[in-house]
Amino acid sequence: STAKEAYVTLCTNDSYAIGVLVWVESLKEVGTTRQIVVMITNGLSQKMKEQLAESADKVVEVNVLDSRDNVNLDLLARPDLGVTFTKLHCWRLTEYDKCVFMDADTLVLKNIDDLFEKEEFSAAPDPGWPDCFNSGVYVYKPSLETYQKLLKFAVQSGSFDGGDQGLLNSYYTNWNRISFLYNCVAQSFYSYLPAFKQFGKDVKVAHFIGAVKPWHHSFDVSTGKVSESEFSGHCADFLRHWWNLFVSRVHKRLP
Ligand code: UDP
Ligand code: MN
Repeated sequence: STAKEAYVTLCTNDSYAIGVLVWVESLKEVGTTRQIVVMITNGLSQKMKEQLAESADKVVEVNVLDSRDNVNLDLLARPDLGVTFTKLHCWRLTEYDKCVFMDADTLVLKNIDDLFEKEEFSAAPDPGWPDCFNSGVYVYKPSLETYQKLLKFAVQSGSFDGGDQGLLNSYYTNWNRISFLYNCVAQSFYSYLPAFKQFGKDVKVAHFIGAVKPWHHSFDVSTGKVSESEFSGHCADFLRHWWNLFVSRVHKRLP
């Protein structure tokens, strides 16, 4: 295939950048053949930017305040939509025919390049309200027209949850469902343990939603144990996988 396709993520600060570095390594470990693109803002340190540039195929700096059209001016009056709005920049990556957006707190466990066979807009159900998709992993087609439409929609309708997930669910009401295995919210084994026992080994992407991220835990290199000082509900196996990648491939390169 000659199509240009990419995995895309976003990070606005050095903390999420650690997640991105592990995410990139997880994609490489499963042998993706697609490009890896990181959108960043000016909230990152220079050293972290350099590290990301070394690790990803492309780093794109995006900035809310740079744009001059009316829609963007309206958005300046909506600081609540800050990071949400920034995520929408992924539709501007029109040098790619198709992309898979993934949150920086996702971890790829198996090759997921087959996602590029899906059309815009495809995503996995959210376990909290399965009629909605979770916006941590989605297949989309970059388009300036869609980008403008999404901005307009954001200004006019806002987001029912204050984030990108509410906004995108209101906009893409006819989304295509992909398997939960492509965006397994790492806490879900608490709500449906038998299903997790049955299907957990097939999980392709773990997603560490919530305020406590894998990089907020600590890890004992000698025992290979992740400490759960604060309750996070993360699945220990997924957490260990994240930390093993961090220790073996990311830690020594950090600024
Ligand atoms: N993000 C970011 N900086 C922030 C918050 C979020 O770069 O301060 C990006 C990052 O890619 C993150 C995504 O936006 O993974 C969505 O946020 P998060 O994963 O924290 O939300 P959750 O999945 O926990 O609902
Ligand atoms: Mn997330």
